[in-house]
Amino acid sequence: MVAWRFIIPEKDAPSFLNPRNVTAFVGPRAHIVAYPLRDAGAFNVVALSSGANPGETWAADCNPTHRNEMTTQFAGWHRDIRTLLSYAPKPTWWPLFGVSDGRWTDGQDKVLIGDAAHAMTPFAAQGAAMAIEDAYELAGVASANVDLADALAFFERSRQARVARVRSRGAFNKFAYHARGPVRVARDMVLRLRKPESVAADLDWLYGYKAPG
Ligand SMILES: Cc1cc2nc3c(=O)[nH]c(=O)nc-3n(C[C@H](O)[C@H](O)[C@H](O)COP(=O)(O)OP(=O)(O)OC[C@H]3O[C@@H](n4cnc5c(N)ncnc54)[C@H](O)[C@@H]3O)c2cc1C
Repeated sequence: MVAWRFIIPEKDAPSFLNPRNVTAFVGPRAHIVAYPLRDAGAFNVVALSSGANPGETWAADCNPTHRNEMTTQFAGWHRDIRTLLSYAPKPTWWPLFGVSDGRWTDGQDKVLIGDAAHAMTPFAAQGAAMAIEDAYELAGVASANVDLADALAFFERSRQARVARVRSRGAFNKFAYHARGPVRVARDMVLRLRKPESVAADLDWLYGYKAPG
């Protein structure tokens, strides 16, 4: 998967971008998320789809081939979406990778947190949130009056359980966003029938989480 990102000033943005909400446009094997950047008077637009794998690199610049890949991936979408994407002459180009399960601690005094421990694809928009929770909870366990290796082992156990749940929510979102055929019909029906408050309540465990400090 690849994420292409760009910013479009509010004055140039199409009227279907909502200045008060995050909006997602979903389609087979791809989706687009747009949200307002209030202080900048602009929208951030992120288009996600499959794309080329640059291999292991820190610096992946968007060359014309990568730019054209975005146009190709969204070629069958609504004309207004294609026009929106055409506002991005040089989007940032982010190949998406995850980190597989494994140890975060060395059993003594070192620990990985954030993406180094558990980079995940951004389908639940939670990678940075998990890094922040990690930092808060790590500060709590590391300042408790217990053996550091035990504290880190406890941290690893409790955070791995939370991160696994968040990661599987991301996988579910990808499944639902990119659905085709009967699954797509079912998704649309559920979204049409359910009240927004009820959908939000289902996600209290995610967004209402109170990290133990
Ligand atoms: C398209 C996309 C959308 C996303 N959207 C969201 C979202 O809406 N919400 C959300 O919560 N998360 C989101 N994320 C995830 C989020 O960006 C990451 O999870 C988060 O940045 C991880 O933070 P980190 O501090 O662990 O790692 P990083 O942000 O990767 O920071 C690590 C830093 O260490 C530096 N570094 C590396 N090696 C060295 C070295 N040897 N010496 C010194 N410095 C070094 C790097 O340059 C980097 O600055 C998204 C990610 C993507 C790709």
